[in-house]
Amino acid sequence: MKNITIIGAGIVGIATASYLRRDGHQVTVVDRGLPGEYCSMGNAGILSPGSCVPIAMPGVLGNVPGYLLDPLGPLRLKWSYFPRALPWLWRFINSTGRAQIEATADALRSLLVQTFDAHLPLANHAGCADLIRQSGYVVVYEDEQSYRGDALAWKLRRDRGVICTELDAAGIETLVQALGRRYPRGLHLPEQGYVANPERLTKTLAAQFQRDGGVILQRDVLDIELGADGPLALLTDAGRLPVETLVLCAGVHSAQFSAKLGDRVPLEAERGYHVMFSDPSLELPMPVASAQHKLFVTPMEMGTRIAGHTEFAGIDAEPDYRRADALVAHMKRLFPQVRNVETTRWMGKRPSLPDSKPVIGRATRYANTFYAFGHGHIGLCGSAPTGRLIADLVAGRQPNIDLAPFRADRF
Ligand SMILES: Cc1cc2nc3c(=O)[nH]c(=O)nc-3n(C[C@H](O)[C@H](O)[C@H](O)COP(=O)(O)OP(=O)(O)OC[C@H]3O[C@@H](n4cnc5c(N)ncnc54)[C@H](O)[C@@H]3O)c2cc1C
Repeated sequence: MKNITIIGAGIVGIATASYLRRDGHQVTVVDRGLPGEYCSMGNAGILSPGSCVPIAMPGVLGNVPGYLLDPLGPLRLKWSYFPRALPWLWRFINSTGRAQIEATADALRSLLVQTFDAHLPLANHAGCADLIRQSGYVVVYEDEQSYRGDALAWKLRRDRGVICTELDAAGIETLVQALGRRYPRGLHLPEQGYVANPERLTKTLAAQFQRDGGVILQRDVLDIELGADGPLALLTDAGRLPVETLVLCAGVHSAQFSAKLGDRVPLEAERGYHVMFSDPSLELPMPVASAQHKLFVTPMEMGTRIAGHTEFAGIDAEPDYRRADALVAHMKRLFPQVRNVETTRWMGKRPSLPDSKPVIGRATRYANTFYAFGHGHIGLCGSAPTGRLIADLVAGRQPNIDLAPFRADRF
């Protein structure tokens, strides 16, 4: 059995810690904050085994001016940050070739098809399986044109076995009464689902990990002390912490450490927002997505959450809550009956790579170091499958998917 140290107690770090602990390793998770209080706290909660479509799709560049000019649009770029975001955006645009998106869809599907299969054992063991809802979800379109504009994305899903049933206005109303017949086009994805409280999921798994003998230390990791064969210690705000085997799960902060370890990866903060509505009269049987506006509305145990959008402004910029205002406006368009009982607004930083795939696997130079970061829009779904794959690698078991598309040295 090994002594393993993990940087990061987000959902990826905690799921990885849980799977490694199940194998009997001594596992210590180090985080500057509390488990699940960073990006994993406020996401849309969607568990989507069918989320195999990359964000960079053909024609994406043509949509950008419209998105940026629309005050309610799904994309914002802080212009002073543009020169720093440019190399990432350049790679993003260059990821839109047909062969590349087909390959990315294959890779993402292989990872995410395991979503429920990998999450449920952890949630059952921790006593929080009630949070995992296999409800399906509905995607709506305001017009025929935008529905047809997404034809390739739906083909990519269907080609990989994702069930997507077409809906007309009446079909949408039958599934989600609160939407009425306002939307002419929609799809039902019955095999998808959601987590009714993503923060509680991470915290409950973390508490179970500790009950099982795992250790969580609240420390800021400042640097990694390197020897000839790999990391020797973490240098933290509370002193030197020796390491034998290291797993890097530091979300959007991972690139600074992977660079130190010899793997330069183009990781960017794709910032997104949420607003919680506590109106109890709005009851949704399943999440609702607006594909045009790049957002999800999810029924959670704390209320109804609208979450989404993308903002490029860097890791350190303050939240711009005008993005949350735009989400409120969308909420009222989707559900005009909703009462404006807002509770919280939140901004989180998706750890995103330009080709929409995470980095999962062994560090290029060092046998005692593993990476599990960069999950972008799919970190909640992908966390438990990733944790299980890392546990396989650490144990020397053959992973159940090809990890070559997720290598750190692919850039
Ligand atoms: C608006 C929005 C909606 C989303 N919706 C969905 C969704 O519906 N479904 C889905 O699957 N995904 C969704 N995501 C994406 C998902 O939330 C992320 O991919 C996921 O949370 C990333 O998890 P993580 O563990 O890698 O990172 P994080 O949760 O960010 O955890 C990283 C941890 O590392 C710690 N850390 C970093 N640096 C250091 C350091 N130097 N020292 C100590 N600790 C450190 C941080 O404190 C943090 O706790 C959404 C994201 C956003 C913003």
